Amino acid sequence: MLIRKLAKITIVCIMACVLFASNPFRVHAANTPTQPFDSDYKYVNGVGNITVWLNYSSGVGYWEYLISPSANNWMYTGWANPIYITFVSSNYGSNMDFHSNNNAWFSSYGFGNGTLAVTWHFLIDDTNINPNYSQAPTSSWYYAEIHINDDQFTQSTFSDAAAGGTIRHEMGHAFGLAHNNCNPNSIMHQYYTYNPCDNTYEYRVVQTIQQTDNTAINNLYGYGN
Ligand SMILES: [Zn+2]
Repeated sequence: MLIRKLAKITIVCIMACVLFASNPFRVHAANTPTQPFDSDYKYVNGVGNITVWLNYSSGVGYWEYLISPSANNWMYTGWANPIYITFVSSNYGSNMDFHSNNNAWFSSYGFGNGTLAVTWHFLIDDTNINPNYSQAPTSSWYYAEIHINDDQFTQSTFSDAAAGGTIRHEMGHAFGLAHNNCNPNSIMHQYYTYNPCDNTYEYRVVQTIQQTDNTAINNLYGYGN
């Protein structure tokens, strides 16, 4: 009896040691939930009727084949949410404006050359509420601007999937979501960045909206609670 018990304990120990050896000294936190910039900051009119305008004169129409499915992905993530998006031909009263820019433009606002895109938030009187042009707004907003860096998007090493993922990521910022750099399985992971939970540099491994991102939208806009 005692021998049988010892044998069982040994087997448990071996399994535990194998599991430990496969994940040594690592507290893996890959499934942190996506969070808003601030639970009080969001689109003042909600996300049930988001109007998207493309600044064709900037050249951003070139990316419409990626922007259009990105909008569809946010509406139909696979989980319910209150987002509804339509494209409009005028920026008068639009909620989400897309612009194409280049490295020089990004540099002029203090961003590095590798910057893929940036999202800004505005009051109805056109005040930019992102201090120092960073991505955390200081109050709720009426509309957002998404600026795409054409010099990065057109790099041969930057795939359409990654570009589409970047557009979805920026739209997440427009809706009010912050970075989730502890979770490479969130669209709000910063593409290639330092993961402070794993102490490593890593790529985002998804390019579409994930359940944690969808849940963050519902928490922010009060849908399904
Ligand atoms: Zn971002």
